[in-house]
Amino acid sequence: MVKHKQEPDVLSSSPAELEALMAPWGVPAYRARQLFEGLWRRPIRDYGDLTVWPKALRLSVEDKYPLHRVAASRVQTGQDGTLKLLVKLFDGQQVETVVLPHDYGYSVCVSSQVGCNMGCTFCASGLLKRSRNLTAGEILDQVRLANDLIQERGHVISRVDLMGIGEPMDNYENVVKFMRLAHEPLGLNLSYRHFTLSTSGLVPEIYQLAEEGIPVTLAVSLHAATDDLRSSLMPIDKAYPIAALIAACRVYGEKTGRRVSFEYALLAGVNDTDDQAMQLVRLLSGFSCHVNLIPWNPVPEHPFTPSSKNRVEQFQRIVQEHGISCTIRKELGQEIDAACGQLRRREEEALSP
Ligand code: SF4
Repeated sequence: MVKHKQEPDVLSSSPAELEALMAPWGVPAYRARQLFEGLWRRPIRDYGDLTVWPKALRLSVEDKYPLHRVAASRVQTGQDGTLKLLVKLFDGQQVETVVLPHDYGYSVCVSSQVGCNMGCTFCASGLLKRSRNLTAGEILDQVRLANDLIQERGHVISRVDLMGIGEPMDNYENVVKFMRLAHEPLGLNLSYRHFTLSTSGLVPEIYQLAEEGIPVTLAVSLHAATDDLRSSLMPIDKAYPIAALIAACRVYGEKTGRRVSFEYALLAGVNDTDDQAMQLVRLLSGFSCHVNLIPWNPVPEHPFTPSSKNRVEQFQRIVQEHGISCTIRKELGQEIDAACGQLRRREEEALSP
């Protein structure tokens, strides 16, 4: 039987919300702030570790609001230091979290939903439909878990990508709250500029995010430059065609001052032609943006094959020659079920009768 999470959810609460929650029990505001600090800055596993609190207070709050930390049920380590985690939630459901080493330090790629309903035809995550949204605290706790794992290497997470399982804009309120909580000075104190939010292109939410006052990098999964091709790869294109999507992205860039990034996974013979590259150039000309070409990670259930290295470089050349910033994403963790969603899917298959 699925357990239901107690409300209110301590892990999803801001310092002010914790103060309001504790006040009826006569707990002073500074104790609530100590709890928030303890949850995120020097993370406690449970209330027993919060030794700045009197024991009686720890016991009484633990009774009312148990903590539901996420936990790694499997960790795969790549030769390049990439860590891919299968992460168990309080109700036994699982998502994936990936910790990536870079020249500047470590980033973490977090999941925002259990499964995804967007139905992109090249994606491993979308093969399992969404069963629920993650809470803000469950998303934030993936960052805490990543920090736990790399602190023995003397590092902390400095960048966060919302690019794991799920469409973040389809879990808008919790995702925005997650970013606000991660930005809290009493907690992880992460700059909004160090977040990248990936979306398949939910236009109304892009406009909404532009008004939030949280200038994160928007990474839009484009993957094709014409609606006929894009709608065959990404059903969301039928609801929000490319012209409407690009218009929303331009507004986002203007309002936030952040350069929008367009993600483009190259599929051999499908979207990697010179013609698509030129269509992309026409689409983005005059827009201060960035194109990120992604060598596609094969997913056995999908009929595509990755573009050759030469083709990827030729595509990049065409885009760059027309004055558009364009890079090829470095492939990390190649040998460890690299396509997002593969690890979880394999685990689910192994468990199914
Ligand atoms: S690419 Fe992203 S939005 Fe599309 S199905 Fe996969 S997880 Fe969902």
